[in-house]
Amino acid sequence: MADLAPYAVSTSNSRGRIHPDTEPSHRSEFQRDRDRIVHSTAFRRLEYKTQVFVNHEGDLFRTRLTHTLEVAQIARGIARELRLNEDLAEAISLAHDLGHTPFGHAGQDALNECMREHGGFEHNLQSLRTVDLLEERYAAFAGLNLCFETREGIIKHCSLENARQLGELGERFLSRTQPSLEAQICNLADEIAYNNHDVDDGLRAGLITLEQLESVSLFAQHVAEVRKVYSGLGGRRLIHETIRRMINTLVCDLIETTADNIARHRPRDLAAARLEPPLVTFSSDLQVAQRYMKRFLRSQLYQHYQVLRMANKAQRIISDLFSAFTSNPRLLPPQYQTLVDGDQVRRVADYIAGMTDRYAIKEHRRLFAVGEG
Ligand code: MG
Repeated sequence: MADLAPYAVSTSNSRGRIHPDTEPSHRSEFQRDRDRIVHSTAFRRLEYKTQVFVNHEGDLFRTRLTHTLEVAQIARGIARELRLNEDLAEAISLAHDLGHTPFGHAGQDALNECMREHGGFEHNLQSLRTVDLLEERYAAFAGLNLCFETREGIIKHCSLENARQLGELGERFLSRTQPSLEAQICNLADEIAYNNHDVDDGLRAGLITLEQLESVSLFAQHVAEVRKVYSGLGGRRLIHETIRRMINTLVCDLIETTADNIARHRPRDLAAARLEPPLVTFSSDLQVAQRYMKRFLRSQLYQHYQVLRMANKAQRIISDLFSAFTSNPRLLPPQYQTLVDGDQVRRVADYIAGMTDRYAIKEHRRLFAVGEG
């Protein structure tokens, strides 16, 4: 990759992989990480997992796979523009949701509740566990043996208690320093992607309306702009023209604000950038605008009674599966009866977290519906 900024992650300043690995030919270390992620089992399952809507509810809604691709596309564009490591940004983005349970946030909350007495369940940590331990693809090591910087980018948040158990990956939470700028980009690219596609999916599902959205300044400003240029435009094209403008505004603002932050703090190199406050940020105006949008989505979409009904079903499925498997681990498929780290309850969580929406529904039926096998 030509002409990276001095504070970008590069092969030469990378902290490398846990297990010694041959040097890749014709691709960079971070391209190799990306390729390993794309070939993983957990990555393929993203296609049948959802964030807000349950996978079988409709073919047009985002799945975690299309969400992941949107995040990667946004993050790559920003990284390239700022002369940061585009391959690393892509690898982190593609891996960032690998540890998610079926049924989106409802599934994660339910599994976390089930695991309360057993160390809890956190999707960031599960993503890391997936790439470090659970993927079975290589003879020489468990997991994908990804570079430190890719693994670091996967852990967005972490409690201090968990950080203490994460070794060198947990250090930055204890010392309150920052991850690479590439990781910071992926974090905000995720936010740009989900806020905008949830607006799109919410409108398509008929759970929120254009009129309601016009109470949110970020949306109102852009829809007014579209109407001014294309008077009389309505339907899907009005919505998409508005959403693409919102994404563009957020991306451009992030690039410009970050470039300003970098110019002001002048980090000499990657190590210096880690000691600064977060340098990848939106302007304060757009931070406020995003906060309003999030608040709107929370109250009008995520708390919509139809979404809550799905969430309720999801919680029921997850907790039923959890209690069946923990009270009798012999109900588990044989590979999950084999322990990875001596913890049978954690293996139950691994099994459930790895399920797709439809697999979890099927497994629930197989365990509880009389007459099913
Ligand atoms: Mg995400």
